[in-house]
Amino acid sequence: MTAMVKAEGVHKSFGPTHVLKGVDLEVAPREVFCVVGPSGSGKSTFLRCINHLEKINAGRLYVDGHLVGYRQHGNKLHELKDKEVAAQRRDIGMVFQRFNLFPHMTALENVMEAPVQVKRESKATARERAMRLLDRVGLADKAGGYPTQLSGGQQQRVAIARALAMEPKLMLFDEPTSALDPELVGEVLDVMRDLAESGMTMLVVTHEMGFAREVGDALVFMDDGAVVESGHPRDVLTNPQHQRTKTFLSKVL
Ligand code: ADP
Ligand code: MG
Repeated sequence: MTAMVKAEGVHKSFGPTHVLKGVDLEVAPREVFCVVGPSGSGKSTFLRCINHLEKINAGRLYVDGHLVGYRQHGNKLHELKDKEVAAQRRDIGMVFQRFNLFPHMTALENVMEAPVQVKRESKATARERAMRLLDRVGLADKAGGYPTQLSGGQQQRVAIARALAMEPKLMLFDEPTSALDPELVGEVLDVMRDLAESGMTMLVVTHEMGFAREVGDALVFMDDGAVVESGHPRDVLTNPQHQRTKTFLSKVL
């Protein structure tokens, strides 16, 4: 079975700052794969590389068996053209810590936007799917609301619906609940749990260890730009093997 995400010795530097120092991991299709680790360990940078927001400097990164950003000819790599990069990106949904909704558009318009603009879908088709997705995240009654009229939890649920509107094969979540008031975290995690049950492949950077333990199929602990420890969330969280993992978990659990 082809891995949905495969990283082999992935390195990324920003000028002199060496951020990813050989990341190796493999996410299977339909898996909920959690990434935990201290601030500055490179978690966001890694997700951004998968989604073409950053370019790796060395190693190999594959999504669904395809090299990210390159085509291989013999042992030479050729950079993909903008159009080909756009095609790769279409298959990946990303949800950020900050919800980044378009402020001048309603919830419905936010969810319709990419299918209409990027896929040239008809408005009727896009609207129908957007309504279905808003219903799925429990916000059918907020379709006409603008982001400022929605709570943080509601905005994040709209952001998830917006990502799903492109019918991605992979969803990336970068600390999707970290910017939320504590009482709003649960509603977003519930939506993510439903999505997981529907079989979506999800790569989730999170500090929500309860979610990781209950919903996660796999978990890696990242520190200083590399994977320190990996396994089933229950095992890593209850019986960490490395001192760095133990120290981190003692702070967040
Ligand atoms: P995490 O998400 O685990 O907190 P990040 O991937 O955001 O970590 O950041 C890892 C390191 O990379 C940090 O030291 C950060 O300052 C640095 N970094 C991230 N993006 C950039 C950038 N665009 N330019 C320079 N340094 C960056
Ligand atoms: Mg981050």
